[in-house]
Amino acid sequence: MADFEELRNRMVDEQLIPRGIKDPRVLFAMRRVPRHIFVGEAAQDYAYGDHAISIGEGQTISQPYMVGAMTEALDLHGDERVLEVGTGSGYQAAVLAELVRHVYSVERITALAVQARRLLEGLGYQNISIKVFNGTLGWKEESPFDRIIVTAGAPEIPAVLVEQLTGGGRLIIPVGDRYSQMLTRVEKRSGEIMKTELFPCIFVPLIGEHGWEG
Ligand code: SAH
Repeated sequence: MADFEELRNRMVDEQLIPRGIKDPRVLFAMRRVPRHIFVGEAAQDYAYGDHAISIGEGQTISQPYMVGAMTEALDLHGDERVLEVGTGSGYQAAVLAELVRHVYSVERITALAVQARRLLEGLGYQNISIKVFNGTLGWKEESPFDRIIVTAGAPEIPAVLVEQLTGGGRLIIPVGDRYSQMLTRVEKRSGEIMKTELFPCIFVPLIGEHGWEG
């Protein structure tokens, strides 16, 4: 069996640090979370490779660098309540759970949500809540959130998500056309909205109202 801890450390040292991920807490979290658990047995040996991996239902777990870059862009300090749209495998939720107070994650495909919940419970995470729902509508009952991360590509920034941010909060979301997007940061400062384009990226589509048609 592969030495997954060794592979995980190499992933951080060879894929994340040389490309500029600096936040020590993010690097630490990514050295810890067992990514191979989230990809299904057949893909475990490739889990720490420099690429996205299929997780079934036509969806993917993002490339490690993308998870690191998005997590760093959230600028997390430890006490945040974070909403994730697009639970997928649950890997990004686990990385976030290492770094913040509580993760609320929304997934539209029941089978993925059920599997992610099972894996995360098995790993002992107690600060992650998962709901099957259209995440473009956020999670009103638990709002506002200090941070929101959308891990699927959106045609536009859903206004509801911006509404569900705290003052001083930030949203990281891939925005663009169906097959390529620009990772975008939205900051809410005393009622004003500031948008910054970070870098190009490719995500599976965000489906539903305020997203793409399924
Ligand atoms: N963060 C995930 C990767 C997500 S892939 C991980 O770490 O594995 C994108 C996910 O977004 C898919 O699982 C897809 O089903 C989900 N998705 C797409 N549109 C959605 C919507 N409107 N609401 C909730 N989830 C959505």
